[in-house]
Amino acid sequence: MAGRAKGVGLLSGGLDSILAVKVLQEQPIDLLGLTFVTPFFGPSEGLAAGAMAGIETRAIDISEVHLEMVKKPRYGYGSKLNPCIDCHGLMLREAAKIMEAEGADFLFTGEVLGQRPMSQRRDSLRSVEKLSGLSGRILRPLSAKRLSPTRVEKEGLVDRSMLLGIYGRSRKPQMELALKYGLRGYPQPGGGCMLTNEGFSNRLRNLLDINPGASVSEVEIIKWGRAFKLPGKTICMVGRNESENHRLEALAGARDIVLRASDHPGPTCVILAGSEPRDLETASSLLASYSAAPKGARVTVEFQEGGFERGGERPEISAPNPGRRNFSRGCFFRAARRYRS
Ligand code: SF4
Repeated sequence: MAGRAKGVGLLSGGLDSILAVKVLQEQPIDLLGLTFVTPFFGPSEGLAAGAMAGIETRAIDISEVHLEMVKKPRYGYGSKLNPCIDCHGLMLREAAKIMEAEGADFLFTGEVLGQRPMSQRRDSLRSVEKLSGLSGRILRPLSAKRLSPTRVEKEGLVDRSMLLGIYGRSRKPQMELALKYGLRGYPQPGGGCMLTNEGFSNRLRNLLDINPGASVSEVEIIKWGRAFKLPGKTICMVGRNESENHRLEALAGARDIVLRASDHPGPTCVILAGSEPRDLETASSLLASYSAAPKGARVTVEFQEGGFERGGERPEISAPNPGRRNFSRGCFFRAARRYRS
């Protein structure tokens, strides 16, 4: 066998990526794990997987470039707003930069051929390789024997005979491997990506319809609270509890408008940038409706562009028909169609 190889692995956090590491650890190969930070998933699961597998793992923030990819994926979306093929391709391209910088020989993933209907078909794996410009350099240790040999296998840097040929949707082979390697308490597959969540996908789709150039910070805002699409074609988020109120206010950008009730307990609302005056009125009505003001009380709504913690004037307005608790739900639902949250 040739000299000692070095591999860089994408750790999603699921059992399969841990097993991919374990299979490679059977050989004298140096391994480095990577996990990514985007607006739609964080690094905690990948870092935990790296710790469980016993390799150094780094978290790389690709939020901006990932969001741009989600807006216009070349290979389209899955059942929700999840552009899995493009996402894999992007992560591999980003990982390839680390691979080059580290002088590593190959990338590896925990993908299993045929396990997922869209992203792990043979043609999808090829598309991902093509997208990433890494043909022949992506090793999938769990299914390698069912795939064409990669460059490192051909060169003898990785012993193909020690790799596996798992195929299909059954999890049995992975469970057996977990037992073999003494892995316990590993994460269950899936569930970590918000783009596969129907409610969030609907919100994001609405945000991108209204503002195709939406930024990472706007995507962060629509994660919190109830979402409403206002008549002026902007989005208003209404906090559901104190924690969401704080988050919304902290996340508001310089051109977003933050509203809150000054004389009654109530939610914080944020209207995303680009609103019209009538949106302020509608958002004030929403806020009044969700406040704890007693029936019939007037609710004074104060608002500030950029939030209250950022200095400047704090103009006060009264909500249109302020405090009229006879806002029926139907009334404001007609004014601002509520998304599924
Ligand atoms: S589920 Fe989410 S993180 Fe996973 S490949 Fe698809 S878009 Fe990317």
